[in-house]
Amino acid sequence: MAKSRALHWQEPETINCSQCDGSGEFRGMFSSGPCAMCDGTGLVGEDGEPLPREDLLAMMRRQRDRLAEQLDGARQHYQRLLHTPGVRDALAAERARQLEQQQRDDMALRKRLRGG
Ligand SMILES: [Zn+2]
Repeated sequence: MAKSRALHWQEPETINCSQCDGSGEFRGMFSSGPCAMCDGTGLVGEDGEPLPREDLLAMMRRQRDRLAEQLDGARQHYQRLLHTPGVRDALAAERARQLEQQQRDDMALRKRLRGG
C-alpha cells in the first residue's frame, strides 16, 4: 500500500516529552543516551505520543534551514554594523578599556596575594 501524503505538509503541534522533560536525554543510574520515547528530540505530539519519524526529519530539516537563515541575517547585520561610521573606533576603545581594567584587576590581585 502506497503511503498517502498530505499535499501541504504541516508541522505537527508538539509538547515537551514527559519522559525526559524535553531534554531529549535519558539519564539512568548506570547509562544515559537519547530518550527512547521521543527519539532524542525532546518533543512529542500534542497527545503525548511519539511523532512519526518522517515528520521529525522534516521538522529538523526546516529548523536547520531556519537557523541557517537567522545566522545569515545576523552575519549581514554584523557586517553592516562594522561598516557604520564610528563603530570600529568604539569597539577598539572598548577593547582597550577592558584590557586596562583587566590589568588593574590583575595588579590588585597580585598585591593582595603578596599580602600588601
Ligand atoms: Zn523524551
